[in-house]
Amino acid sequence: MFENLSERLSGVFDRLTKQGALSEEDVKTALREVRVALLEADVSLPVARDFVKKVQEQATGQAVTKSVTPGQQVVKIVHDALVDVLRGDGDPGKLKVDDPPAPILMVGLQGGGKTTTTAKIAKRLKEKDGKRVLMASLDVYRPAAMDQLAVLGAQIGVDTLPIVPGQKPVDIARRAKQQAALGGYDVYMLDTAGRLHIDQALMQEVEDVRNVVEPRETLLVVDGLTGQVAVEVAEEFDAKIGITGVVLTRMDGDGRGGAALSMRAVTGKPIRFVGTGEKMDALETFEPERIAGRILGMGDIVALVEKAQETIEAEQAEKMMRRMAKGQFNMNDLKMQLEQMLQMGGMEGLMGMLPGMGKMSKQMQQAGLDDKLIRRQIALIQSMTKRERANPQILQASRKKRIAAGAGMEVSDLNKLLKMHRQMADVMKKMGRMGKGKMLKQAMK
Ligand code: GDP
Repeated sequence: MFENLSERLSGVFDRLTKQGALSEEDVKTALREVRVALLEADVSLPVARDFVKKVQEQATGQAVTKSVTPGQQVVKIVHDALVDVLRGDGDPGKLKVDDPPAPILMVGLQGGGKTTTTAKIAKRLKEKDGKRVLMASLDVYRPAAMDQLAVLGAQIGVDTLPIVPGQKPVDIARRAKQQAALGGYDVYMLDTAGRLHIDQALMQEVEDVRNVVEPRETLLVVDGLTGQVAVEVAEEFDAKIGITGVVLTRMDGDGRGGAALSMRAVTGKPIRFVGTGEKMDALETFEPERIAGRILGMGDIVALVEKAQETIEAEQAEKMMRRMAKGQFNMNDLKMQLEQMLQMGGMEGLMGMLPGMGKMSKQMQQAGLDDKLIRRQIALIQSMTKRERANPQILQASRKKRIAAGAGMEVSDLNKLLKMHRQMADVMKKMGRMGKGKMLKQAMK
């Protein structure tokens, strides 16, 4: 999936990974290539432009200078931005099917995978959500389409509305609604007639059906391989019928991932599912993280991002080690330590990781050594000026009063913090004398 785009981006990022540092110019160059790759993946021009602009703003501002491996940093930023664009509100796999019988209207062009997807979703509703589902084909123009749905229904064990020849789509819809209510179905799905292209008469027909059943969900099924065309189709259907979500089919092929991105950005409609094959199980809930990972083609992007994060932490740790080796340990260092403690799950998390320490963790909590205390200590440090943090020895009575008040605490709280800092600084100094090399080795273990 999305091979074209992924290969391109991989190339860009490979090159970046080999560079030592990433300048603003490097970001621009990388993103220029990202933009070309997006366009070639059939992302529409305005979407690609917007996307790159957004990423550039994010990249230039913060992370780039801090990054140890620039390539990873860019991957993270591009990945996060992709997820951001792709993500809709709420859970894409959760269809509004309470209040039975809930109608679901399936719309789209002919050959897009509408009938197949109708059955796939029915199967999912039945098996995952325990719903009783009735399916009905409204395609009066192609009797084969009606038969196809009946065959699929039999295959997955979902009822289909009996075919009555000569009935109009709106009448079939009424009959389905009635049958669903009488038969005690939770959901009824209407597979509308496909069309080769947007056609006013057929569109009107779907609109009439919509007015009769008032669907809870109107899902547009589009072929993900058709890229920009899929986006235009979505816009038209949404303008005329109003859709609640999109299903992108044929995402199992080597299609270009652009459709997903443009679809979201242009229509603002959530992508609910992706079709990944012809079999009835080949339907996946749309996961922005996963699709973003696939678009980037970086395999397990999440692991990569975490690794990048670790690298940054390792760099910070090393910096701290170097300072410690020189016997330096000021309030900034202490703050960093406290923050790391919180990140690792606070006192409890830290103790929980050590075997046999669970009990001790409770005792420490009782003694007040918990996350709350750590947060209070951080608040005290934040209340200090830059100069005070770098040289805590300058803290006299008036400064102490101001700092404690600033953090909403007592001077005695601050004194406790200062005592802890002094003790830790002493230990650091001693460790520093042990020699930098040895200590670094130990810390890296
Ligand atoms: P409709 O005309 O929109 O109802 O389209 P169909 O449901 O009849 O599907 C057309 C063809 O596409 C069929 O051969 C399906 O098996 C196939 N198809 C549907 N969804 C997918 C998918 O996600 N991946 C692949 N590879 N084929 C699909």
